[in-house]
Amino acid sequence: MRILKGDMVVVCTGDDSGKVARKVLRLEEGGVKIVVENVNRVYRHVKKGHPKSPQGGRLSIEMPIDASNVQVYCPKCDRGVRVGNRLDADGKKYRGCRKCGTALKAAGK
Ligand SMILES: [Zn+2]
Repeated sequence: MRILKGDMVVVCTGDDSGKVARKVLRLEEGGVKIVVENVNRVYRHVKKGHPKSPQGGRLSIEMPIDASNVQVYCPKCDRGVRVGNRLDADGKKYRGCRKCGTALKAAGK
């Protein structure tokens, strides 16, 4: 599994290409698609009485994008990188940047 909920990611394609997103909000279809904060936003027009918008009008939501279109952001490399299992000094596995070895933990569960 490459992308986790709470990851900071860089978008590689589309209108939001090059954008660093603070957070992956959720995974869909078992991680094939992901919903990323402020990426691929669309406006839905909703009628009055909608639970999120009692007045009706426009509602801004994020649509899922393909997980293969983003890379995990590494603050040390300052770019999107590949992540993999690395071993720390005690021989414990952790998820880290393949380039510099910085541990990249997903921020939230
Ligand atoms: Zn790195």
